Amino acid sequence: MALENYEQDMMRCNRCSYCKWVPHEVMKDARFLGICPSMEKYNFHSRSASGRLITALSLLKERIDLNDASRDTIYQCQMCGGCDVSCKVERDLEPYEIMQELRFRCVEKGVVPPEHLKMVDSLKREANAMGKPKADRGNWADGLGVKYLGKEEADVLFHAGCQYSFDESLWPTARSGLNLLLNAGVDVGIMGKSEVCCGGRGYEMGFKDVLTQFAKRNTKFWKTAGVRTVVTPCADCYQSFKVLYDKIGKKEDVEILHITQFIHRLIKEGKIKLTKEVPLNVTYHDPCHLGRLADPWIHWEGEEKRVFGQMIVHDPPKEKRFGLNGVYDVPREILKAIPGLKLTEMHRIREYAWCCGSGSGVKEAYPDFAESTAAKRIEEARSVGAEALVSSCPWCKSNFEDCATETGDSIQVYDILDLVQQAI
Ligand code: SF4
Ligand code: SF4
Repeated sequence: MALENYEQDMMRCNRCSYCKWVPHEVMKDARFLGICPSMEKYNFHSRSASGRLITALSLLKERIDLNDASRDTIYQCQMCGGCDVSCKVERDLEPYEIMQELRFRCVEKGVVPPEHLKMVDSLKREANAMGKPKADRGNWADGLGVKYLGKEEADVLFHAGCQYSFDESLWPTARSGLNLLLNAGVDVGIMGKSEVCCGGRGYEMGFKDVLTQFAKRNTKFWKTAGVRTVVTPCADCYQSFKVLYDKIGKKEDVEILHITQFIHRLIKEGKIKLTKEVPLNVTYHDPCHLGRLADPWIHWEGEEKRVFGQMIVHDPPKEKRFGLNGVYDVPREILKAIPGLKLTEMHRIREYAWCCGSGSGVKEAYPDFAESTAAKRIEEARSVGAEALVSSCPWCKSNFEDCATETGDSIQVYDILDLVQQAI
């Protein structure tokens, strides 16, 4: 698809503004009615999904040029997908795909945030988004006695992802995750220095070829190494492997699991026993990439037809992705299985979850926007009386921790793996 293919969607947006809100019937607290962090921060229609559809149409019709101002309109967005889910409650548009196409257009025209160029340079040279030397990838697992795929064979590949591989403050969590599998007797290995980025973050920033290149490298490795299951503790990597690789035609006959799904399976099989009390009142944050953005990709080929000279219909009908098929229940079931732990839900959960704030290169290009988004989530966690905010993605944990430090909030922040480790 290309931007041009979505022209009718742009025309059919009726500015109803559903994309700015959680549907009113499911929200009980007006403080948390917003679903769009970009609107919350900038409070201007151009910063909503609908506003970006106007920008897209104006570009298509050559009424505006891409410049620094339109670049910021496009990139001051978390690509969290909240708008897309809310729009589909009443309409059948795909604002998320249009915003993704807009970013591809920005990259084609060379109008992108300079911070993103640095990230992409690092991806191309060092195969990671963190600006770190690729030779250091895998250091997080030193001393664990795990197999290195390529040299040895294993059924399961543990793909750590860029954030876990290079952010040393997160290494204990990554090591806990891998140790949980090793101690449960799983035949698991890692790629060590040979691991590369999933490519998803680059794609979201508009660098389409980054995803294609890394998808080729990763899937080739999985085939060569005879891997049957890929498990990752990173929500971004999970969504790339599961959804984006399928979207671009690189789906492989390999089981893709987020680590919460693997651990849940091991708990059910009695191979992980949660026995120690963890007396904590927590709330769970659904990462966008493990939740609504993890809805399986639905391929569609057909045409748009105009009925009665007005209505546009898809022939054959196009199935909607409502964000309902993400990994929502499994992390909650794990938390509920931890003795002594109390799970209290926030207002915006599952497909209507509020973003953590570190999506799609926002943290690098617009750090104040990343912080204000995280602060809003911490406020929501506080509003339900939680003493700890738990997620299942390193990007979320890292951004919540940074925000709490910056704002002096004493809320505790955990990855779910930290709590599982404490309960063993
Ligand atoms: S993008 Fe969808 S929800 Fe938003 S204004 Fe347009 S039609 Fe309404
Ligand atoms: S992706 Fe998220 S931040 Fe961007 S317009 Fe949609 S809801 Fe707002």
